[in-house]
Amino acid sequence: MAKLLEGKPIAERIKEDIKQQIQALNLKPVLASIQVGENPGAEAYVKSQQKTAQNLGIEYQLHKLAQDTTEKALAEFIQKLNSDKFVNGIIVQMPLPLQIDYKRISQFILPEKDVEGMHPANIGKLLFGKAKILPCTPQAVMELLHSINLNLYGKEVAIVGHSEIVGKPLSLLLLDKFATVTVCHIGTSQAGKLEEHVRLAEVLIVAAGKAGLIKGEWIKQDAVVIDVGINRVADKIVGDVEFEEAQKRASYITPVPGGVGPLTVTMLMRNLVEATKLQQ
Ligand code: NAD
Repeated sequence: MAKLLEGKPIAERIKEDIKQQIQALNLKPVLASIQVGENPGAEAYVKSQQKTAQNLGIEYQLHKLAQDTTEKALAEFIQKLNSDKFVNGIIVQMPLPLQIDYKRISQFILPEKDVEGMHPANIGKLLFGKAKILPCTPQAVMELLHSINLNLYGKEVAIVGHSEIVGKPLSLLLLDKFATVTVCHIGTSQAGKLEEHVRLAEVLIVAAGKAGLIKGEWIKQDAVVIDVGINRVADKIVGDVEFEEAQKRASYITPVPGGVGPLTVTMLMRNLVEATKLQQ
């Protein structure tokens, strides 16, 4: 039976460290958060960020813009925050209305204030293993693996999902640790090859956003399973992996909710503190 790999205790330890850094260096980090339009998903993220920021002594400025804000107006707003010397980090909440392209917008945030680690300059540094600010969810996954002292050298790792915010940057972080990384995606499924890759994985990380995509019986004996997926099914939040069946085979498995989620917001705050230090 797999041990539960919970994010909360790790997040608490990291938050303690963040608090100490803020006090020791006498930092006054300010995070500017932009929300365009109303969306229940974005509201939930904002609430959780606000709460975490407050507990850490971080100022959280919420800027709510109208649903019909144009991309140009949002870019100008970001540029205003870029030149505000009291603002250390900027985050644009997802989802954005259809008239705004996140990929274009994320390039307007100054790389030094890009606390999500998604600016092309920061992604470029990540490619060379030199990034100081890393994308939050991949960083959260690495913290979970680190917490069980897993030596990734030469390990067979399968990632399911190749998005810019999770799968792609995570593959780079894992390659830096000399893991053998296979990245699966919709094409893998459509070619009927998802199961065979999952069965080989000593470490499986799933971020597809499809409840029950990964059958429990596919899990390799003693594999470490990190489920990033968040799906609402009949008023319950579940991941992408069939949890009960997978738990019988894995050595460690993250619960959903309670696995990756609590760490992602903590990584955002750690990035903010790192950005604040870099700006000084
Ligand atoms: P996305 O939609 O950008 O990407 C989904 C990925 O899954 C793509 O690579 C796609 O090819 C792949 N995919 C979709 N269907 C598939 C299938 N049938 N077989 C194989 N691959 C398939 O999603 P995202 O933004 O990367 O998010 C993925 C999931 O992770 C979502 O459930 C999201 O809510 C969750 N998420 C959680 C956190 C967290 O902090 N816990 C953070 C980010 C995302």
